[in-house]
Amino acid sequence: MTIEETTEAPSAAGSPQNSPSTPGRAFDVEHALAALTLEEKAALLSGLDFWTTQPVDRPEVTVPGVMVTDGPHGLRKQAESPDHLGLGTSVPATCFPPAATLGSTWDPALLRRVGEALGRETRVNDVAVLLGPGINIKRSPLNGRNFEYLSEDPVISGELGAALVAGIQSQGVGTSLKHFAANNQEADRMRVSADVDERTLREIYLPGFERVVKRAQPWTVMCSYNKINDVYASQNHWLLTEVLRDEWGFTGLVVSDWGAVRDRVAAVAAGLDLEMPASGGRTDAEVVAAVRAGELDEAVVDVAARRVLSLVARSLPALDAAAASGEGFDADAHHALAREAAAAGTVLLKNESADGAPLLPLASGEGVAVIGELARTPRYQGAGSSQVNPTRLDDALSALRAATGAEVPFAAGYTVDGADAGSGTDADALRDEAVEVARAAGTVLVFLGLPASYESEGFDRAHMDLPAEQVALLEAVAAVSSRVVVVLANGSAVSVADWQHLAPAVVEGWLGGQAGGSGVVDVLLGAVNPAGRLAETIPLRLQDNPSYGNFPGELGHVRYGEGLLVGYRWYDARQADVAYPFGHGLSYTTFAYSGVAAEVLRTDVVADDEAAVRVRVTVTNTGDRAGAEVVQAYVADPAAQVQRPERELKAFAKVDLEPGESREVTFDLSGRDLAYWHPVLRRWVVEGGEFEVAVGTSSRDLRGSATVVVDGEDVRLPLEPLSTVNEALDHPVVGPRIEALVHGGGVADDMLGMIGDMPLTVIADFGMGGFDRAGLAALLAEANG
Ligand code: BGC
Repeated sequence: MTIEETTEAPSAAGSPQNSPSTPGRAFDVEHALAALTLEEKAALLSGLDFWTTQPVDRPEVTVPGVMVTDGPHGLRKQAESPDHLGLGTSVPATCFPPAATLGSTWDPALLRRVGEALGRETRVNDVAVLLGPGINIKRSPLNGRNFEYLSEDPVISGELGAALVAGIQSQGVGTSLKHFAANNQEADRMRVSADVDERTLREIYLPGFERVVKRAQPWTVMCSYNKINDVYASQNHWLLTEVLRDEWGFTGLVVSDWGAVRDRVAAVAAGLDLEMPASGGRTDAEVVAAVRAGELDEAVVDVAARRVLSLVARSLPALDAAAASGEGFDADAHHALAREAAAAGTVLLKNESADGAPLLPLASGEGVAVIGELARTPRYQGAGSSQVNPTRLDDALSALRAATGAEVPFAAGYTVDGADAGSGTDADALRDEAVEVARAAGTVLVFLGLPASYESEGFDRAHMDLPAEQVALLEAVAAVSSRVVVVLANGSAVSVADWQHLAPAVVEGWLGGQAGGSGVVDVLLGAVNPAGRLAETIPLRLQDNPSYGNFPGELGHVRYGEGLLVGYRWYDARQADVAYPFGHGLSYTTFAYSGVAAEVLRTDVVADDEAAVRVRVTVTNTGDRAGAEVVQAYVADPAAQVQRPERELKAFAKVDLEPGESREVTFDLSGRDLAYWHPVLRRWVVEGGEFEVAVGTSSRDLRGSATVVVDGEDVRLPLEPLSTVNEALDHPVVGPRIEALVHGGGVADDMLGMIGDMPLTVIADFGMGGFDRAGLAALLAEANG
């Protein structure tokens, strides 16, 4: 099936009628800029309507408006009433799996292909920018929008985000990397201040964005709604200009999230180029007035206007070519790709034996029964601005029947978001019927998951649990069958600890997109050997999560009290048990690791992108089926001056292996991969010394490690009067002398511990160190050279 190009112009009132086929839409950016009045330039910096940029149409200068639209896992081009909550209808487009599922693929090459398909659908629909991907870190499983994000880890978010961006942009259209930054909850999202220290921002919440910007240069970055340390992202000069542009070299345009601008003039001054959606001219007038009053430099407006013009100009060639050729997209091929991605993102959490053999893969459809409304009425994407109108929809029940040719008995078991969900007799009757179906079956597939009313853009979940009636159903089914496979549909981790003992096999299907039903069946039947891995930890209890107690905050503030210890970094630091660790996922085959080795590639390692340490490992498929292993490399810096996480993912590779096949995998770790953000020096440092690299199949299943000694920086702060005795004793130049002086001042060895944390100036004042303030000043001058 081929979806023909949709030719309607954006239909919101006042949309420009830039027929894509109009010849001569190309224009010269500098010439246009020079011809524009201040009013026209200010107007360019906000939307014409919900989805289009402002056109200019004068004899001297013509600039078309272009459409931008959601995103991220499919095109949501609204042909009728526009909104940013996914309420109005949109043109049919392929609904690829949302980010939660794509994140679990750990497969940049696959995401690149998904990106190419997304880009093509964007282009043939005359849309200049697809608003995605979203790469915020999953700080809490409760974030209602976790389904739109890739991982709790910045390396995965960055690697996969960059692949998506590169794929989409290869089609001549742009992306909008969002939501920049620290937008990790929906509660109070338009106002809350994420109170988070700079080191945590630099090491956890920003590096995913940094990687995508440096690697793939998204055409646009979308600032988030929230504040960061009391400053709105949309007005945050440090974030939008100093970090994003000056440090990372971003050359594209910064667009606001829809309605994120509180003070337009402050936003323009901070580096926000385009306010979306339209402000009806109100905030444009504020910009003009600020320039006229000398409060805002017109040159700043020019820079932003140039970026809007450049965005329009760079999108025209592909859009015009698509319109001229009348190209469409191959909906069948895109559906097949969506199915491949859904299967690739499916995670086999558990596959224990019943009657001597693992339950999965299913031998055939014979004797298999399906229970659960979600098998028939799939939940395949999340609600809100990302909601796509799919070109078609697969459900698991039909897919299983079609693939096996078997009859496959079915019972709904429960209702999903139904008016009578869980109520009295109806729920009982549904459960009783399901039990009878299960009793007669050899193997029972029980499809469970979160109803749409549980998780969405706009609000967070209240808890991590499945609906109680679904757990009650599982208990009833497990009472009559020992061969139970649970298949989950949810956009973010759910608690499994209370019920998973009832099912020898558990499959996490996430939200699979329009082909999620067939994709998960491919895994159940073994047509696809599962190779998805958790990109987020599944904790035993919500209370174990690091943000617990600090989520979603109160009185307009959310304190990121756990600091760096997000996700597995927290569970590892506490040596806490989890239900399933980060990186976990089973296969129908097995893999062995051997020969983990690491070598240092250079001296004087600094925090740059050059290779510093090479890690090698050999991976062998020891089973009798072809399969893919996700090889994960974690780095630890056991002896740093600052607290560092127990281990951190720095590299990964997905490797296809035939039965018996071995492959050597090589990872080059850069200086930056070894570095931490020094909170006082306010820069990345590689502290010289030992580093451990552990390689494994999950963060908790490490199969080998190697230690290297890296010649990095001797990270040292200048000594000052308030430096402690311990810090001074550590100093290579004056340390020994201070030790002697302190001893001379009457401090015995065993008292050193007691005064170790006292400032030098206090020691001087107390006369305990054999030096007074003048003597201390001389020592400090010598120490600091
Ligand atoms: C969302 C964005 C989205 C925008 C436009 C906002 O509410 O946060 O992700 O791109 O609406 O629909």
